Amino acid sequence: MAANTALLRTIPKVDEVLASPLFDPEQQLSHSVAVEAIRAVLEETREAILAGSLTEAPTVDGVALAAAERVRSHSVMSLRRLINGTGIVLHTNLGRARLGEKVTQAVCDVAMGYSTLEYDVAAGRRGSRYSHIEELVTRLTGAESALVVNNNAAAVMLILGAMTKGKEVVISRGELVEIGGSFRVPEIMEQSGSILVEVGSTNKTHLSDYEKAITENTGAFLKVHTSNFRILGFTESVPTKDMVEVAHAHGLPVIHDLGSGVFVNLEQFGILDEPTVQQCLDAGVDVLSFSGDKLLGGPQAGIIIGKKKYIDQMKKHPLTRALRVDKMTLAALEATLRLYLDPRDAMEEIPTLKMLAVTLEQLEAKANRLRDAIAAKTSGCALSVIEELGQVGGGSVPTQMLKSRVVAIVPSAISVMELEKRLRACPVPVIGRINKDQYLLDVRTIEESDFDLVAENIAACVQ
Ligand SMILES: *Cc1c(COP(=O)(O)O)cnc(C)c1O
Repeated sequence: MAANTALLRTIPKVDEVLASPLFDPEQQLSHSVAVEAIRAVLEETREAILAGSLTEAPTVDGVALAAAERVRSHSVMSLRRLINGTGIVLHTNLGRARLGEKVTQAVCDVAMGYSTLEYDVAAGRRGSRYSHIEELVTRLTGAESALVVNNNAAAVMLILGAMTKGKEVVISRGELVEIGGSFRVPEIMEQSGSILVEVGSTNKTHLSDYEKAITENTGAFLKVHTSNFRILGFTESVPTKDMVEVAHAHGLPVIHDLGSGVFVNLEQFGILDEPTVQQCLDAGVDVLSFSGDKLLGGPQAGIIIGKKKYIDQMKKHPLTRALRVDKMTLAALEATLRLYLDPRDAMEEIPTLKMLAVTLEQLEAKANRLRDAIAAKTSGCALSVIEELGQVGGGSVPTQMLKSRVVAIVPSAISVMELEKRLRACPVPVIGRINKDQYLLDVRTIEESDFDLVAENIAACVQ
């Protein structure tokens, strides 16, 4: 204890540390920022001494260095860009869909200035924030009406809250799924005040199961895309068209949570079993919802489309105000939807679609270029281009892997684990994966313009 007290007395004073050249006024560091960082380091030093983990007298230089490092690390954005070498196109943890240049520009324009958010310039009076996209969505999908909220989880909650509060909602047991980020269908149902009625079994549900479940208090049939999982083998689900027929015969609406929501047919890229929004609407569903930032390739949003009478009910619902989207989301969504007016623009400008459309030959050539870029910067690792499998991600088409090409890296002086760790610590972190003692970077999700940066980071890390 006595030793601790003696050591405590050796802690430098704030002014002594401030006099260090590191805090020279020339360094453009404000006095208050420097003092705050020094105080924090001194407090940590005091605690370390009292806890017995620091047994040497702290030096002025040591404290100054730690405080300067603290200032530096605080000036780095916590939410910042990184390089996705996982090959997972819609990686939920890495921000899902990337926005292209045109869309990003639209967001910047609206964010930096005043805008027509809720102003009708033609009439010179108040307008509606939803007007900017409603007509576009109905034009692109053929739906009667549309509404946009914060995300698809919110969309499902609003749909149920507005349409089936206090009523029974019939859903197949095979569709009572949990989607990443704790979106659980039964819990959303409960939150909305609707009563869950499960029918069928996990692997098989028949049309008669739905029909038998109808009571006086039934509010709707609900169909949910099982997104991130599939039951394979002995399974049966009811075609949407048949569900619609039975529901409508009983005067009930059918609601479909589509999950991803894609406007272009992905079969052309070899991705099967992901129906387009238009196809789902054609099945006769009354209300449909999907995400903005999954296969659509836009910003985070929940898009609701369907019959006007139901959408009007939602527009008047108090939850709608709580779930409303901001101007940056609306700008990104409008710009994204405008690209879909000409499918060629969509394919060229929407990064998600571009990454799915790329051919194996293009990936092979791209991987060779990344390998060469790395080889030009360092000889500290063995490099090869190999075949690997990637994923669409974002809960979309879970059973289909995307054949891809990756650069496999084996550092000579450090372990693969160490390389992975160091690359994560770079100012622009690089995220790859380890497989069988190789560090893998899938070029599908890495922009060509980032190749030099990736190569520099690797060169710095393998030393
Ligand atoms: C992803 C998903 C959701 C949640 O959508 P968010 O936009 O992430 O809120 C809901 N339902 C299904 C079926 C999904 O796949």
